[in-house]
Amino acid sequence: DPKDIWQKDKDHFVHPWTHFDSFKKDGSLVMGRAEGAYVYDLSGKRYLDGIGGLWCVNIGYGRREIAEAISAQALRMAFYNPFVDTTNVPAAELAAKLASLAPGDLNKVFFTCGGSTANDTAVRIAHYYHAKRGKKSKKQIISRIDAYHGSTYLTGSITGRPADRSPYLHFVDDLVHHVSSPNFYRAHEVLPNGVGKGMTEEQFCDYLIEELEAKILEVGPDNIAVFFAEPVMGAGGVIVPPKGYHKRSLEVCHRHDILYVSDEVVTAFGRLGHFFASEAVFGIVPDMIVTAKGLTSGYQPLGAVIFSDRVYEAMSAEDPDGWFTNGYTYSGHPVACAAGLANIALMEREDLNGHVQKMGPYLEQQLNTLLELPIVGNVRGHKFMMCVENVMDKTTREHFPDAVNIGKRISDHCEKLGLIVRPLGALNVISPPLTLSKEEVDELVSLLRQGIEATMADLKA
Ligand code: PLP
Repeated sequence: DPKDIWQKDKDHFVHPWTHFDSFKKDGSLVMGRAEGAYVYDLSGKRYLDGIGGLWCVNIGYGRREIAEAISAQALRMAFYNPFVDTTNVPAAELAAKLASLAPGDLNKVFFTCGGSTANDTAVRIAHYYHAKRGKKSKKQIISRIDAYHGSTYLTGSITGRPADRSPYLHFVDDLVHHVSSPNFYRAHEVLPNGVGKGMTEEQFCDYLIEELEAKILEVGPDNIAVFFAEPVMGAGGVIVPPKGYHKRSLEVCHRHDILYVSDEVVTAFGRLGHFFASEAVFGIVPDMIVTAKGLTSGYQPLGAVIFSDRVYEAMSAEDPDGWFTNGYTYSGHPVACAAGLANIALMEREDLNGHVQKMGPYLEQQLNTLLELPIVGNVRGHKFMMCVENVMDKTTREHFPDAVNIGKRISDHCEKLGLIVRPLGALNVISPPLTLSKEEVDELVSLLRQGIEATMADLKA
């Protein structure tokens, strides 16, 4: 009984990222099943899933071979503890596979329960690495405003989205420092004192690199362990940084003996057309890549930190105190790792990266046609990681007042029309399954256009 499920959910399930007022008022839309790029609610209504679950269902829904790999492993051996000197077949196989896909000498893999625990672990690896080399003072963390890195106590603090700073929570502010977001469309706002106004993209990039180095010198290079960056910022507004930004940031970090973590929780496993985007799209080999989501296409919870031989060698240098006292019961969970292996095998067999390289530009091109609508100020992103930004005035880029809730209104209209797109402030995010056909791309863009038009009609009324 759909109504009964809705009520149980409302009465007992405390959802992640809940706004209590609206949840108490409206409850939730209960999804019941999914196939390909479509999800169905309990009434049987069909929606094109324009957000791939939550930037994660990369291979689409209902893929039998993933379900079979999960079931076979659950029957063979659902679990055995992965601590110290026991392991399991899928974890060993998946670690080796990830090492073969990751760039450079990133050959060591630490498995976690998802992206937050992977970023948390990346900090501990960085701390351990520096301390083992006699540099225990190197413990501070640099991140960017608008970044999203997770929801544990520490990763919630590394996150730099102002909207995520609930006044009812605490943050580890004595450990984390934030530099500006590389959001060129909003350069006039993201840089202090409006200095970004009128800058070219090159000047904007120069500013960001100088700011990063100035921050390092202010905090003291001997105090800083690690820098975090998403190749393309996701929840912070689908921000593709200016050309050369990652290369130059990495160079600054390495000059000051700071480890560079590329948070590829969203950008990996085909979303940008490659297994990993750091080197293939942005030309860098970071010290660590953090990933989750598309690693299993969301069929099982799993995250990983893939890090360099160089870091591992320093960490594991002979020492009677050399315990890396970090790990989770479910690190290297055999069923989750079996899902990861089957997911990668499917992506390789169907050449999903090749599909994204062809269909991604088509999605970008079709979304760009929305710029003819009076409130669409910017369409941005890369391949299957896109967004539209809605504005009051396209010339001045003036924001809609918060009370208009423009992104949510558009998403609500789209939902009625049978399309899920995620609202993020004034943005609507598009991160669909990578399997989308040309017809499905056309359907997505057409429904989004109708949703924006319906919202514009509301605003006029
Ligand atoms: N890092 C990035 C870039 C993310 O987008 C997310 C989640 O959206 C996370 C980390 C956290 O991952 P998880 O929700 O699996 O803990």
